[in-house]
Amino acid sequence: MLSVAAILGDSARRHPHRLAIVEGDIRLTYSELWDDVTAFAAELRACGVGRGDRVALMLPNGIDFPRAYYAVLALGATVVPVHALLVCEEVVYILRHSGAVAVIAGGPLLAVAEPAAAEAGIKVLDVVTGQGRLETIEPTRADDIAAVLYTSGTTGRPKGAQLTHLNLVMNATVLAYDLIGMVPDDVVLGCLPLFHSYGQTGALNATMRVGAALVLTPRFTGAGALDLMVGQNVTVFMGVPTMYHALTEAAATDPRRPAHLRVAVSGGAALPVALLERFEAAYDTVILEGYGLTETSPAATFNEHGRGRRPGTVGHAVWGVEIAVADTRATDRIVPLPDGEVGEVVIRGHNVFHGYLDDPEATRAALVDGWLRSGDLGMVDEDGFLVIVDRGKDLIIRGGFNVYPREVEEVLARHPAIAEVSVVGVPDDVRGEEVCAAVVLRADLRVPSAQEVIVWSRERLGGHKYPRKVVFMTALPLGPTGKVLKRELRKTCS
Ligand code: ATP
Repeated sequence: MLSVAAILGDSARRHPHRLAIVEGDIRLTYSELWDDVTAFAAELRACGVGRGDRVALMLPNGIDFPRAYYAVLALGATVVPVHALLVCEEVVYILRHSGAVAVIAGGPLLAVAEPAAAEAGIKVLDVVTGQGRLETIEPTRADDIAAVLYTSGTTGRPKGAQLTHLNLVMNATVLAYDLIGMVPDDVVLGCLPLFHSYGQTGALNATMRVGAALVLTPRFTGAGALDLMVGQNVTVFMGVPTMYHALTEAAATDPRRPAHLRVAVSGGAALPVALLERFEAAYDTVILEGYGLTETSPAATFNEHGRGRRPGTVGHAVWGVEIAVADTRATDRIVPLPDGEVGEVVIRGHNVFHGYLDDPEATRAALVDGWLRSGDLGMVDEDGFLVIVDRGKDLIIRGGFNVYPREVEEVLARHPAIAEVSVVGVPDDVRGEEVCAAVVLRADLRVPSAQEVIVWSRERLGGHKYPRKVVFMTALPLGPTGKVLKRELRKTCS
C-alpha cells in the first residue's frame, strides 16, 4: 500500500503537536489537521464517496484545501483539483470528462462551482467536520491514480494528466529531502496555487512530508508575501518568476527583509538570470531553479545546493529520474542527441505520469518507450546542466531562421528600464513570422521609445533575432500559475 494521504497521516503520528498550516489567524497542528481530514472523510463516505471515485476540488488556497484533498485521498478516491480561473463552461467540461461524482467547493469559487455542477448533474459539497472519524486510510496501490490534473490549456484543450500515488509521494519526498533539504523547523510560504502540480507537490505535499509548517495565503502580492515572510519567520519560499519580480519590486519600497529565509525555489517558467540576480541581491539568499511539467509530478530537474547550481540552467535530473535530449525528427522513437545539441527534452522515471484520462491518442504521442516527450527544446551543457532553450511550440521561424524567444527575453530583461518582457512570433507577409517583444516598463525610470528598445537590442542580438516590433503593456497576460499566456499575447501583438 502507498497513499498520498499517509504523507499527512504519518506526520500527524510523528509530529502531532507541530504546526502544520497557518492561514491568517488560523493555526492548525498536525493532529488537529488530521482530525479534520478524517472527520471530513467520514462525512464524504456518508455521502457515498468511495474508492476509485473522482472528486473535483474548487477551493481557494486556504485550510479547506488540504482538508478536502487528503480526505478524498484517504478514501482511496481520486482528486481532480480544478483551475481557479476557469469559466463555467470550462469547468463543466472537466466535471463531465473526469466523471467526477461531486465537487467540493468553497469561497468565491462557489459562484462557478454551483452552476457548473448543476449542469453536470452532480452535487456540490462543503468542507464540514462532524463527530465521525475515518479510522484507517483506504489502502491504495502505488500505481493507483491519486490525482487527475488538467493541463492549464496554454497550448490547447485541457487534458487530464493522471498522477499515481507513487508519482506524488516520490516527487514530494525527493523535493523535500533531496533538493531543498527541508526539516521540521522549516516554515514554508506557499503562494502557489494548490490546484496546480507545483503548488500541490512543492508547497503542500513536500511540507507535510517532513512535518514542517506551511503558510497559506489566498492571494499573492509582492508586498503581502514580503510581509508574511517577515511576520511568520519564513525559511523557504517557493514561487514562479513573476512572483520573484513582484518581490523584488516590493523590496524597493519596504526596507524589511526576512531574516530566516534560507532558500527560494523557482519553477514553472524560465527565470531570467537578470531577475535571479536582482532578487538574490535584494533578499540575500539563493534561488534554486527547477524544471518540470504537470506530467512529471512536476519536478524533473533541479539546481541543487550540493551538486552546484548554474543560473540560467535548470540543473540536473532529480534523484531516480533520467533526462535526455532527443532528435525531434524521430517522432515514433527516442533518438538521443550528443551533449551540446538542441533537441526535445525527454524524461523517464518515477515521476512520469500514467497517461491522459480517456485520451489514448494524446497518451501515445506523449509517452514513447517509457519516455515522456516534454515538447520543450533543450540542451545539456558541458557539465551536464540542462538548459531549456524554449518551448517547441513557442519557437519563432523568421525568414527560415529559428529564433528562440527565451534567448531574446534574456537579453531584453537586462535593459535597465524593462521590468518584464515576453517575446512572441507574429504573422508577417514577407518573413512568415516577425519577432515581437511585449514589454512592461519599470515605473521609476525614463521611458524609452519602441525605436530605442529596438536599437538597443539590435546591438546585442543577431540580425534575425532582434525584435522589429515592440509593444508596451501595463502587465503581461498571465495564467494563475504566473505563466505568460503567449497565445493571447500573439493575438494582442498581431
Ligand atoms: P499546457 O501544457 O496546456 O501548455 P502548462 O504549460 O501550464 O499547460 P505545465 O505542466 O504547468 O503546463 O507547464 C510545464 C511547462 O512549463 C514545461 O513544459 C516548460 O515549458 C515550462 N517550464 C517549467 N519550468 C520551467 C523552467 N524552469 N524553465 C523554463 N520553462 C519551464
